[in-house]
Amino acid sequence: MKRKGLLIILSSPSGAGKSTLARRLMAWDETLSFSVSATTRPPRPGETDGKDYSFKARPEFEAMVAAGEMLEHAEVFGQLYGSPRAAITQAMQEGRDTLFDIDWQGGQQIKQAMAGDVVSIFILPPSIAELERRLRSRGQDSDAVIAGRMAKSQAEISHWAEYDYVLVNRDLDEAEAELKTILRAERMRRDRQPGLTDFVRGLNREFDER
Ligand code: ADP
Ligand code: 5GP
Repeated sequence: MKRKGLLIILSSPSGAGKSTLARRLMAWDETLSFSVSATTRPPRPGETDGKDYSFKARPEFEAMVAAGEMLEHAEVFGQLYGSPRAAITQAMQEGRDTLFDIDWQGGQQIKQAMAGDVVSIFILPPSIAELERRLRSRGQDSDAVIAGRMAKSQAEISHWAEYDYVLVNRDLDEAEAELKTILRAERMRRDRQPGLTDFVRGLNREFDER
């Protein structure tokens, strides 16, 4: 019997490394499904429509929300972002875990809607100076955009205690290993192993037959 897929939420201040870590997790486990968010923000160089984000005009995005097609949605840095429901429902039914790179507002909404299926992880930068260095090193945002993101970092970080797990992304390999540990353990929780009851029944039959 297939287990229901988990919803794994990664949040952090912008630049702490969640996209990089999400890409590494996706490469590690091909069964993971990445929730491609819809957004009204313009694409960055190198981003592919339908892979990194689904880029939408505001009226199109608002129509999706009105039609109930978003599991959650929020305004971040003056742009709309949301997680389309269809792909998530399908992955859950197939027993595949879905990875979300979303902010605290989205994390809260998904937790409220599907509490038992959610694992939430907050990623902290080792320091604020390093956070700014990473935002600059990404080399894809203007000074004004970077300043705007830095200004919002403190507010995002203030939500750290609402998450199940918190990790500090100092070294990428270490952070990746920690994420894998969390995933492996969460998948082994008793209530997430639907085959266990039958398995133990089989063990008991063996006892009876001795
Ligand atoms: P986010 O998705 O949280 O906004 P990114 O994954 O885009 O952040 O990372 C921002 C920048 O920081 C990228 O250039 C990335 O390569 C770099 N980065 C991420 N993690 C680390 C790390 N542990 N050490 C050094 N640089 C990192
Ligand atoms: P960026 O523009 O840097 O890709 O993302 C900006 C912020 O929006 C990040 O904190 C990211 O996690 C968040 N975000 C991306 N997609 C979604 C989404 O679908 N819903 C919500 N609530 N936040 C999102």
